[in-house]
Amino acid sequence: MKKIAVIGSGTMGNGIAHVFAQAGFAVALIDISEAALSKALATIGKNLDRMLAKGNLTEEQKAQTLQNITTFTTLEEGVRAAELVVEAATENVELKLKLFKDLSAFTNPDTILASNTSSISITRIAAATDRPEKVIGMHFMNPVPVMKLVEVIRGYSTSDETTKQVLDLARQLGKIPTVCNDYPGFVANRILMPMLNEAIYTLYEGVAGVEEIDTIMKLGMAHPMGPLQLADFIGLDVCLSILQVLHEGFGNPKYAPCPLLVNMVQAGHKGVKTGQGFYSWTHGTKDLIVAERFRSFRV
Ligand code: NAD
Repeated sequence: MKKIAVIGSGTMGNGIAHVFAQAGFAVALIDISEAALSKALATIGKNLDRMLAKGNLTEEQKAQTLQNITTFTTLEEGVRAAELVVEAATENVELKLKLFKDLSAFTNPDTILASNTSSISITRIAAATDRPEKVIGMHFMNPVPVMKLVEVIRGYSTSDETTKQVLDLARQLGKIPTVCNDYPGFVANRILMPMLNEAIYTLYEGVAGVEEIDTIMKLGMAHPMGPLQLADFIGLDVCLSILQVLHEGFGNPKYAPCPLLVNMVQAGHKGVKTGQGFYSWTHGTKDLIVAERFRSFRV
């Protein structure tokens, strides 16, 4: 396999295009927004420069990687020659169902159709296509060029052959693919999100403050950052929407999102992307400043 199409050139799409291009694949990067495509190319260039500075890449490899990427604003044109499509467009069910229905018409019948979705059922996406056995989840982690894991999700109808091909491809990128079945949250988010939700409940119930919760989990569990900081980085709206998928999907109250999380999202305090969450990010992401409303808490 040599030709890959990546749909969506946002946070994840640019990273996915980067790693495939660096591994020598011809990558068609598709987005409805010209601005998003320009930004993606600039980000890939910057990330390659960083690797160059660290001595992990040569000038020639950088140039070749950039040369391997072609951008498109129309789906039909972009995916025409692809042997694998990795969809990394906005997390919206209706949008993804429409994209995968269109992909059935615009791609060769042998083309594997993968989604990078964090929470939407692969089985549901597959049912919108003419080839459910060739539809699979390829869940890369952020930032894609750095993170080794690819969570490979087998939908209800995904074939062994498709799974094997996707595992081989992920290994060619230098990643460590790990397989799971298609149930709400897959594995990563099913385990991570309840932990973040529990951290928010711990704050909500006044057991400890933001700094205490994050310090206890960071130092006590050797995590690179505390759960509240991580929730701010992921985006509190994203956390809420994944918890809702778990809650609805399993019908189990243990996944119910903490009311504090719901309130924060409704107030527009979504973490790093809006400048306010459990921390204040208005001065950038270097300094950890507890948000004003959580500062006065004392046990
Ligand atoms: P993003 O908002 O940064 O980028 C989405 C891009 O999709 C935008 O550039 C948008 O213009 C484009 N887009 C929207 N509709 C399109 C269409 N019809 N055709 C082509 N492009 C279209 O989003 P993101 O954070 O990169 O997330 C993308 C996917 O990856 C989602 O499914 C998300 O759940 C998943 N994901 C995200 C993360 C993360 O940490 N951000 C991690 C793992 C998986």
